[in-house]
Amino acid sequence: MAYVIPAPTVPALPVADSADLFPVRRVYCVGRNYAAHAREMGADPTREPPFFFMKPADALQPVPTGTVVDHPYPPKTDNYHFEVELVVTLAKGGKDIPVEAALDHVYGYAIGLDMTRRDLQDEAKQLRRPWELGKGADFSGPVSPLFPASRIGHPGSGEISLAVDGVVKQKGDLADMIWSVAEQIAYLSTYFELAPGDVIFSGTPEGVGAVTRGQIMIAAIGGLGEIRLRVV
Ligand code: MN
Repeated sequence: MAYVIPAPTVPALPVADSADLFPVRRVYCVGRNYAAHAREMGADPTREPPFFFMKPADALQPVPTGTVVDHPYPPKTDNYHFEVELVVTLAKGGKDIPVEAALDHVYGYAIGLDMTRRDLQDEAKQLRRPWELGKGADFSGPVSPLFPASRIGHPGSGEISLAVDGVVKQKGDLADMIWSVAEQIAYLSTYFELAPGDVIFSGTPEGVGAVTRGQIMIAAIGGLGEIRLRVV
């Protein structure tokens, strides 16, 4: 038996300081997951369940560190937004994973951008249509090299930031996530059987905004370094 057309390439993300690649199966993204003062309210019983959407796996754009990488401005938008996020990658899958065991399923972490055609997303919200046109553009998921948890552990805190042309636009702390990485994995695994190769974009802090061609974005997370992209 043979494929009738050439088989698509498996999307993959490089592992930092290594020649190895992490093969990508699915890309889950959690909706708004930071509220600076939610944590000040203790257990916060009012928090709503997290919500998720997906990006195509081949929308990820691997971005090496130490250089400025071109990032193509997508068609059909006049309001293209950055969202800097901690990216989580899974080495093990499962269903109904308990929160206490969830981090054992993580391969590693990276810096990611959930780039969004905000005008198309807003239109979809208004018309009660799905989000793919807003969230799933080609190249809409730039991701840094992966840092294995075996090397860096599981970052529960640390600054996450994004600057445009040297001006800081987003600045938060991983500790301010409403739903922790472990909780996100556990929750998702009640809806889907998770598998090795799954990727989770864990939400963005406040301060999202638009970029235009020619601007340079620097996305950084404490302990993971930074990536630099020129919008072209
Ligand atoms: Mn996002």
